[in-house]
Amino acid sequence: MSLLDEITSENTKPRHDCMVCFCIRDMSREDSAELVSCLADATYTATSIARVLNARGYPIHVEGKQIRRHRKMCI
Ligand SMILES: [Zn+2]
Repeated sequence: MSLLDEITSENTKPRHDCMVCFCIRDMSREDSAELVSCLADATYTATSIARVLNARGYPIHVEGKQIRRHRKMCI
């Protein structure tokens, strides 16, 4: 791997560990598409999305902080 390749790969790494992005990658294509559209739609509250993900066993806190961070940092 060239130096350029190494720097490029370092540069495209996510800048933070986002559990919501992890959920999107982990889910089926259908579920993740629905999650992405809910995340993009402000009428779905962070807490309601968080409660559902938590109930499905993902390490998402029900108070929705990770959802709000994802909406701010990742979209
Ligand atoms: Zn994210």
